[in-house]
Amino acid sequence: MFKRAGAGAVVLGAGPAGLACSYELSRRDVPTTVVERSKGVGGLCRTFNYNGFLFDIGGHRFLSRSREVNAIWEDVLGEDLLRCSRKSSIYYQGHFYRYPLNAFDTLKNLGLIESARCFFSYLNSQVMPPVDQTNFEGWMTRRFGRRLFEIFFKPYTEKVWGISCAELSGDWASQRIQQLSLRKAIKSAIFGNGNGKIKSLSDEFLYPKLGPGQFCDRLKTKSESLGTQYRMQAEVDQINVAGKRVDSVEIRNAAGRSEKLCGDSFISSIPLPVLIERIRPRAPLGVLSAARSLKFRSFISVNLIFNEPRLFDENWIYIQSPDITAGRVQNYKNWSSAMVPDAEKTSLGVEYFVSEGDSVWSLSDEQMMALALEELERIRIVGRAKVAGGFVVRVANAYPVYDSGYQRSLHIIRAYLETIENLQAMGRAGLFRYNNSDHAVLTGLCAARNILGEKHDLWAIDPDQGRDE
Ligand SMILES: Cc1cc2nc3c(=O)[nH]c(=O)nc-3n(C[C@H](O)[C@H](O)[C@H](O)COP(=O)(O)OP(=O)(O)OC[C@H]3O[C@@H](n4cnc5c(N)ncnc54)[C@H](O)[C@@H]3O)c2cc1C
Repeated sequence: MFKRAGAGAVVLGAGPAGLACSYELSRRDVPTTVVERSKGVGGLCRTFNYNGFLFDIGGHRFLSRSREVNAIWEDVLGEDLLRCSRKSSIYYQGHFYRYPLNAFDTLKNLGLIESARCFFSYLNSQVMPPVDQTNFEGWMTRRFGRRLFEIFFKPYTEKVWGISCAELSGDWASQRIQQLSLRKAIKSAIFGNGNGKIKSLSDEFLYPKLGPGQFCDRLKTKSESLGTQYRMQAEVDQINVAGKRVDSVEIRNAAGRSEKLCGDSFISSIPLPVLIERIRPRAPLGVLSAARSLKFRSFISVNLIFNEPRLFDENWIYIQSPDITAGRVQNYKNWSSAMVPDAEKTSLGVEYFVSEGDSVWSLSDEQMMALALEELERIRIVGRAKVAGGFVVRVANAYPVYDSGYQRSLHIIRAYLETIENLQAMGRAGLFRYNNSDHAVLTGLCAARNILGEKHDLWAIDPDQGRDE
């Protein structure tokens, strides 16, 4: 379908997908230009440096069943790829539960009566399963029983997605926690998760010494050394289609001037609705309205430094309690000690799942910091007097929302994009796929290989069940 580039390839977005794509193209001598709106590369996989303290956009575990992705991580990072033990817990109504669940700890925290209720509720869900299991609530209740679902899954899930579990498509659970059931969770709670069989419970992961941004920065350097050009702080404004092909994209460059980039192949990891909106001549009305119906959740991380050498042992804590707005707290020195330059201090990322323009998104940075400090105090993690500084990161379009209509919309958009021969969508927001970075990397590699004559359906790539399983 795609010919080897003469004028070359233009890659939109320099997150893991765009970086992997440009790296692969540059290794195969395809002249490549990458357009990225931010100052730095990495997208959602960026790492921020604040006075020497390093923060992710949510701690990024590197965990993949794809041999190819593992090989790239190892090749690019070498000795800087750390093997970490996972330690995480759930905060719920004043108690910290180890997660993945530990049988004794859970029984102790829930108490005998509540544990018995959970057990009978589970039996009930086996005898009388929910009628509708296409939504998240039905899917999980069938596997865990209503009571456990309501304690351990519902509050956090509703924080992340901002809609009720009954409105959330079961696709999300079947994609992300597909192998998990109460029987397996109990087995894992008693005997451990043998060799990370259940990925969501895996007790080990890889992590770059200086955070995921280290991997992204190195990929950029490698592809630059092979000739890829990066246009940083440049916004993709318009995608010009002539007949069945894109002939150019118009960008607003770092100096604020409009510029046209021509190419033979175009690969986009910018959010799918934005791509569709910016195509000229305009996409048909049905396609535009399908694109406008796709929704994203956004994300805020309040990154704080404390004058305390140790606050807790976990890498992260999920905050299930509905009376706390924060959804998760990261402790970066427990990911890699190199994330914190001063052993007497500890850095935390307090994470909020929001929608652009909602009441939390609209708070000023000072108000966000005050909220995070107040909530950390209420959970009894640390008092505000210990804070030594911090900053706020806001990320729009962080989570594609799998509501009941998203698949229909995606179907319409895919059919339209397939009419444009030399345009491919890849990556997370690019394919509207709730993925991890391994999936983004794989779609980037496969998009590059499509240009070189291979045939990969980027919409169907699944690193958990892929060809290199
Ligand atoms: C809170 C959180 C935690 C996560 N945790 C993990 C984890 O533990 N492990 C893991 O593997 N993955 C994790 N992920 C997922 C991971 O971050 C993504 O899978 C990955 O970053 C997706 O890569 P991408 O290149 O597809 O998209 P992105 O990273 O979103 O990159 C897209 C790029 O396009 C640029 N762009 C957008 N619009 C334009 C425009 N108009 N013009 C120019 N440039 C544009 C953006 O600036 C961005 O750099 C997490 C994500 C989040 C939000």
